[in-house]
Amino acid sequence: MTSSLSAIVTPGFDITFHGVRGSTPCHGGGVARYGGNTSCVSVDVPGHQPIMFDLGTGARYFGVGWPADQPFDGVCLLSHLHWDHVQGLPFFTPVLRPGGRLALHAPLQEDETTVEEVVQRMLCPPLFPVRIADLPGEFLFHEHGDDDFSIGEVQVMSRLIPHLGNTLGYRLSWGGASLSYLSDHQQPGVDVYEATDNARELCQGVDVMIHDAQYTRAEFEHKSSWGHCTIDYAVWLALECDVRTLVLYHHDPSHDDDQLDRVIAEVNAQVGDRLDVIGAREGLIMHLDR
Ligand SMILES: [Zn+2]
Ligand SMILES: [Zn+2]
Repeated sequence: MTSSLSAIVTPGFDITFHGVRGSTPCHGGGVARYGGNTSCVSVDVPGHQPIMFDLGTGARYFGVGWPADQPFDGVCLLSHLHWDHVQGLPFFTPVLRPGGRLALHAPLQEDETTVEEVVQRMLCPPLFPVRIADLPGEFLFHEHGDDDFSIGEVQVMSRLIPHLGNTLGYRLSWGGASLSYLSDHQQPGVDVYEATDNARELCQGVDVMIHDAQYTRAEFEHKSSWGHCTIDYAVWLALECDVRTLVLYHHDPSHDDDQLDRVIAEVNAQVGDRLDVIGAREGLIMHLDR
């Protein structure tokens, strides 16, 4: 990370964290500092339309900060369609106003169902009072497997990664800066440190890697088939792929602020200057430039 002054003169991203929890939102004094909303990150590339990762409950807070008089024309890269990654969609105010436009990129589904059909099934009575077609904004749907595409000048790599159901990780590159996002990533087994070629391709040499950090080793012993990994696994993968900064993300709702502080301090003591490790928290803004 460098100063905001250098971000003014060199190309790069601003990365803002709006929701950092996995599985389900949580609240209370014990999680107040890291925050209790589920997955949502926005990426601000100068002069470029906004790019988001996921639409968990944190998306509402990104939306309420968007100027009401500025029509929203943005892109969201959805990792997958589990609740904790889409629940904020009907509360994202920029598309609750006429003129708002959101392009949703999501993984191809395993059956013949389209992503648009899944969203229509999610947003309809009796599960939700309003249908997506009745929202004032415009939605565009794009489906991906292992693809390379661009959003404006930003190069995007989508790769299927192990989780429960089709799930994408993403890598963004622009102006020599790079960022990877793997919110939900299944570790192969207890104490098994291996990664697929797809996961390695997403992470190799990136400046910032935002990665699943749901479980401690003790928790993973009982939940090793739940689609996630240990904090140690995220650190291993970051070291393996020569990552500059690892952002631990998708915190388990049972992990309170003090525990996260302790774990992050322990991990940094272990890795020394080989890797920077930080914990994602709501409101964190990272300036990334080269
Ligand atoms: Zn999740
Ligand atoms: Zn999931």
